[in-house]
Amino acid sequence: MRSLNVCVHCSVVQFFVLDWVLEVGTLMPVWALWSHSSHLCQQIQFADQKQEFNKRPTKIGRRSLSRSISQSSTDSYGSAASYTDSSDDETSPRDKQQKNSKGNGDFCIKNIKQADFGRREIEIAEQEMPALMALRKRAQGEKPLAGAKVVGCTHITAQTASTCESAVLMETLTALGAQCRWAACNIYSTQNEVAAALAEGGFSVFAWKGESEDDFWWCIDRCVNLEGWQPNMILDDGGDLTHWIYKKYPNMFKKIKGIVEESVTGVHRLYQLSKAGKLCVPAMNVNDSVTKQKFDNLYCCRESILDGLKRTTDVMFGGKQVMVCGYGEVGKGCCAALKAMGSIVYVTEIDPICALQACMDGFRLVKLNEVIRQVDIVITCTGNKNVVVREYLDRMKNGCIVCNMGHSNTEIDVASLRTPELTWERVRSQVDHVIWPDGKRIVLLAEGRLLNLSCSTVPTFVLSITATTQALALIELYNAPEGRYKQDVYLLPKKMDEYVASLHLPTFDAHLTELSDEQAKYLGLNKNGPFKPNYYR
Ligand code: NAD
Repeated sequence: MRSLNVCVHCSVVQFFVLDWVLEVGTLMPVWALWSHSSHLCQQIQFADQKQEFNKRPTKIGRRSLSRSISQSSTDSYGSAASYTDSSDDETSPRDKQQKNSKGNGDFCIKNIKQADFGRREIEIAEQEMPALMALRKRAQGEKPLAGAKVVGCTHITAQTASTCESAVLMETLTALGAQCRWAACNIYSTQNEVAAALAEGGFSVFAWKGESEDDFWWCIDRCVNLEGWQPNMILDDGGDLTHWIYKKYPNMFKKIKGIVEESVTGVHRLYQLSKAGKLCVPAMNVNDSVTKQKFDNLYCCRESILDGLKRTTDVMFGGKQVMVCGYGEVGKGCCAALKAMGSIVYVTEIDPICALQACMDGFRLVKLNEVIRQVDIVITCTGNKNVVVREYLDRMKNGCIVCNMGHSNTEIDVASLRTPELTWERVRSQVDHVIWPDGKRIVLLAEGRLLNLSCSTVPTFVLSITATTQALALIELYNAPEGRYKQDVYLLPKKMDEYVASLHLPTFDAHLTELSDEQAKYLGLNKNGPFKPNYYR
C-alpha cells in the first residue's frame, strides 16, 4: 500500500518519505491530510551585511563586529558544555593549516587533535538518538539522499550538526547517501572536539567556538562557495545560510530543490519571503511540527531549567520562591520542574486560558509587582519583550536570581542595568552580580539570554526528535517530483509527527494500543493514523 496525501490548497500529492519510512516501519502508510500553514509572518528583516573576507579584523574589531550579527546566531548557546578547553590557543583556525589523518584539509576547525574526544561525545549522543539510528539502519539497502548535496548551518554539537542539529544527524544524512558541508549557526555553540571528530571523519566542517562575525560569514561562504560542488539542499537553523545564498549566490537556487528550516526566526523569514513572492524554492517548516514544539519547549525546558540554574548558581530549590513569567509550553515545563523540587512557584500570564491552566495546576497567579520583593528567582519565558524592567529589578531582594528561558534576550531589560550607579561584577562564566549603591545585588544569568542553551546542555533525546524530523523533511523535498511543491512553506503531515514519535517509543519499552476495526470506524479514523487532525497541538 502506498501513502497518499491531499494538499487542501493545491493538489493531491503522494509523499515519498511516508512510503520510504513506513514500508517496513512500525506503522503502515495511510492517507493523511496535508495543509499549508497560513501563518502570517512577522516583519523580520534580513540583515544586509556586506563582507570582505580578506580584511581580517583585529581582536577588538571582531568583538565589535559581533554586534551586528544576526540575533539567532548570538542569542543562544553561550557556553554549552564543551569539556575540551582550548581557550589558551589564541591562533585563529583560519590561520592554521590542518589535515585529518587521511590528508584531507577541506575543513576549518579549532584543533583536529581533539577528534578522539569528539568521537566519544558523538557515541554517547547516538545512544540517545534512537530514531536517527533507526533511519541509518533503514538506509542500509536504499539511499534516499543519494546525489543530495546538503549544505547545513546548525549548532555543531554532538547531537546536532543541524536544531540543534548535530554530528549524529550529519552522519545519518551521509548514511542516507548525501554529501554534506556544514557551518555553525551560532558563534558560541560549536563543541570544538565534535567539529574535530567530524573533520577527522571526512566532513567539510567550518566552525569553532567563539567565532567573530567575520568568521561566521566566512565559514558559511566556505561551505557554499566551492569550485565543482554546488548544494542542492539547504538545512538551516535561523535563516542565515539561506540569506547568504540569496544575497551572494542567487543563481544557486536554480539547482536547489528545497530548504528545511528549524527555527522560529528562520521560519518567519521564509514566510516573509513567500508572502513577498520571493521564495525561490519549496521550504519545510520543521519548527511547527507538533513533536518539535511539544518536546523542545515543554519537556526540554522541564529538564534543562534546573540544570542551567544549578550549574550557574548551585542554588537549592526546596522552599525557594520562584516567579515564572509566562505559562506557555516553556513556562509549564519550568513550573513543573521547580514544583517537583519543592519550590513555591508563582506565575504571571496575560492570557486567561493559560492563566486558568496555571491555577488548575496549583500555581499562584499573580502580577509581578505583587511578589517581586519576596521572590528568590525570576524566570521569563514569554517570548515577549520588557517583561522584567528596571522598576522590578530595583525592587528585587538581595541575591535574587534573574534569568530568561525565552528565545530572545529581550524579556529582561538588561540595557537598563548598564547605568553608572550600578556595578557589574563577573562571578563566573555567564554569571554576573549587578550591585546597587546600597550593596544590594542581583544575580543575572547569561546576560538575559536563554539560560538552558547558554549555561547547560539540552537533552539529546529531545534533539533526536527534531533531527529526525529534519532528516525526513530533507528526504521528502529531495525526492519530490517536479511540481509537487510550489515555492511556498510547508509543514510535514501529522502522520510524520506520529511516525517520529513512534520511533522513540521502543526506548521506553512502551506498548502502543491498536484500534480495533470497530473502534476505528466509531472514531472515523484510519487504524494506522493519523490519529489527530492537523490543527491538534
Ligand atoms: P507560548 O506562546 O506557548 O508561551 C508564552 C506565554 O507567555 C503565553 O502563554 C503568553 O500568553 C505569555 N505571555 C506573553 N507576554 C507575557 C507577559 N508580558 N507576561 C506574562 N505572560 C506573557 O511559547 P513557548 O513555547 O512557551 O515559548 C516561550 C519562549 O521560549 C519563546 O521565545 C520560545 O522561542 C522560547 N523557547 C525556548 C526554549 C529553550 O530551550 N529555552 C525552547 C523552546 C522555546
